[in-house]
Amino acid sequence: MKICVLPGDGIGPEIMAEAVRVLEALRSDGLKFEMETALLGGSAVDAAGSPYPESTQALARAADAILLGAVGGPKWDALPRELRPERGLLGIRKDLGLFANLRPAILYPELANASSLKPEIVAGLDILIVRELTGDIYFGQPRGVREENGQRVGFNTMVYSEAEIQRIGKVAFEAARKRDRRVCSVDKMNVLECTQLWRDVMIEVSQDYPDVTLSHMLVDNAAMQLVRAPKQFDVMVTGNMFGDILSDEASMLTGSIGMLPSASLDEAGKGLYEPSHGSAPDIAGLGVANPLATILSAAMMLRYSFNLEGAAQRVEAAVKKVLADGCRTGDIYEPGTRRMTTRQMGDAVLGVL
Ligand code: NAD
Repeated sequence: MKICVLPGDGIGPEIMAEAVRVLEALRSDGLKFEMETALLGGSAVDAAGSPYPESTQALARAADAILLGAVGGPKWDALPRELRPERGLLGIRKDLGLFANLRPAILYPELANASSLKPEIVAGLDILIVRELTGDIYFGQPRGVREENGQRVGFNTMVYSEAEIQRIGKVAFEAARKRDRRVCSVDKMNVLECTQLWRDVMIEVSQDYPDVTLSHMLVDNAAMQLVRAPKQFDVMVTGNMFGDILSDEASMLTGSIGMLPSASLDEAGKGLYEPSHGSAPDIAGLGVANPLATILSAAMMLRYSFNLEGAAQRVEAAVKKVLADGCRTGDIYEPGTRRMTTRQMGDAVLGVL
């Protein structure tokens, strides 16, 4: 298995170093993979004049999975749009045809106080939002702003083909098989025909997964239920726009951005794995960033691209254990726990592994 490692900018290299050490530890246990590092984002602009240089493209295309830190920072904010670090991120997602975004929102009981919701509502939360990433109203044609009867009219098109709904549905049902076997499909079928088709196709896809329970929810209710009783969900699957909003809402339920991994997958299961947070320029270089979201992203890679459920669970269990032992980086520190640097947190995870 070939892993393309893209540390990126800001805290990216610091948090990636710890995830790589975790993977190295698994390698010495007998897992076989090669890791090669390349540039993406601002560091790539500095070194190669492009946020997604050709050498990185070649490595990313040849890899079975990509592990990414984060990109961006004030140093590159004034560059022309095509040279901005974020262009590198959009470029690699598009280049690799990553259509399925998986964002778990997990709240470890020890961190329940970090949430803005009452601990009893969120403690032990473990949901997975599966968002379609390449279709919907964000990409539909026609789109634009035109002049009509002397005033401007803005318009976009919500569009999904049967095939697009089927493939994201399959990702959700397959993911549910690795969890609690429940899928809630979110739509707005009472108003939007496009999402009536979404619901019909989800029901058809579910016929191939008799061991997984499918339910449906309208998006307005789903937004309410996420803050009222979020633990009722296992896997939530939805389109690009609803998923954009609901996945951010779900991640904020946990209150700890430094803990949340994500995956973006193509049709063959190749994936890009990255923490949900950015490059945190305010703490870059200080050695205090939380590496756990990146380590948990590596665990997702083991699960979804390499089908190594046992290894994924070992890494996740090690993270749970260090939290239970009171290990904390600054972002999740509370009095009575031990404040650690990035490296010390990596050491703690390795110690448990
Ligand atoms: P951010 O997620 O980088 O930081 C928000 C806050 O959370 C900061 O206070 C930061 O210190 C803290 N934080 C984030 N990750 C942390 C970690 N692992 N440990 C401890 N604290 C952490 O978001 P931002 O400040 O809006 O953006 C900073 C830069 O990152 C921008 O250039 C932005 O474009 C970029 N960005 C990149 C990605 C990505 O690479 N996928 C995502 C979002 C933002």
